Amino acid sequence: MRALTVRPSRPDSAEVTDLPDPEPAAGDLLVDAIAMGVCGTDREIIAGEHGAPPPDRDRLVLGHESLGRVRRAPAGSDFAAGDLVAGVVRRPDPEPCGACAHGEFDMCRNGRYSERGIKGLDGYGSEVWTVEADYAVRLDPALGLAGVLMEPTSIVAKAWEQIERVGARAWFEPRTVLVTGAGPIGLLAALLGVQRDLDVHVLNRSPDSRKRAAVADLGATFHPATLDDLADRLRPDILIEATGSPTVAFEAMAATAAYGIVCLTGVSPAGRPMRIDAGAVNRDLVLENDVVFGTVNANLRHYAAALDALVRAPRAWLDGLITRRVPLERYREALERRDGDIKVVLTLD
Ligand code: BGC
Repeated sequence: MRALTVRPSRPDSAEVTDLPDPEPAAGDLLVDAIAMGVCGTDREIIAGEHGAPPPDRDRLVLGHESLGRVRRAPAGSDFAAGDLVAGVVRRPDPEPCGACAHGEFDMCRNGRYSERGIKGLDGYGSEVWTVEADYAVRLDPALGLAGVLMEPTSIVAKAWEQIERVGARAWFEPRTVLVTGAGPIGLLAALLGVQRDLDVHVLNRSPDSRKRAAVADLGATFHPATLDDLADRLRPDILIEATGSPTVAFEAMAATAAYGIVCLTGVSPAGRPMRIDAGAVNRDLVLENDVVFGTVNANLRHYAAALDALVRAPRAWLDGLITRRVPLERYREALERRDGDIKVVLTLD
């Protein structure tokens, strides 16, 4: 089989490699891949800035946003040949820490977790892959290719769950949510906000027409503006930061209504110091009972919530997020950032 592999920590080492087909262990599904979503983390790994290969190996099979069809399922599992599936990204640390021991491996406390296609485990970017039945999610067949959005949707499902849990520490009836960044995470976060009947606003630096249409089709409001321009007018109850810009992240902390919640989802580059009025930020957070928190990854509960959100979403809207499909051998094109891109997928079937 062919696979997209990379040598983590060596920049620009991505290539299509011929590898032996994987052998499913007891309890594993054998899956024919359909597609893999490309995200910023993949680009970071290819740039040599993130990721680790499996132990005793140099190269890692890339890909954590998966979609495939079961070729063979173990007897007695909940899966059957033909099922559309996505694989879960993270596995608990071996110890396990308290969080991992409770199934909350997305909150791993010792950092020794592993992640398919990212850290210590081969990913789903190969024509055939295996996955433990316990870490596979059966998708509604009606989702089709949009099932590749499962993993990014799990990320926002977790974000929303955490927002609601933070809000529940006192009276909480949010009305307005502002999402900064109209990439896949921002748009999916907006979708889940609309599904909660909130007044959803999405801010994007550029007036990209596809993103504008995706926001409008949700019944949400698109703002091609900066946060500085918008914050005073809007004063959202909830702000979900999905640009990864350090400037936007700090502006976000001062942009909410009192008892506001800022949820940071974007991984920003380090090493670009900026000047901030730390006293003003602290004062605002304290005097308004605000909360700022970061969120990463997702556990099985969040995958279930994500599936529910995807199934309730209009299929045409989900399809509209997939703006380019690129076959495996042209992976370089898939990795380029092009105007009008939302989600680019590598096709593997
Ligand atoms: C993935 C997460 C992962 C994180 C850090 C993100 O792109 O969606 O599942 O935990 O990268 O490696």
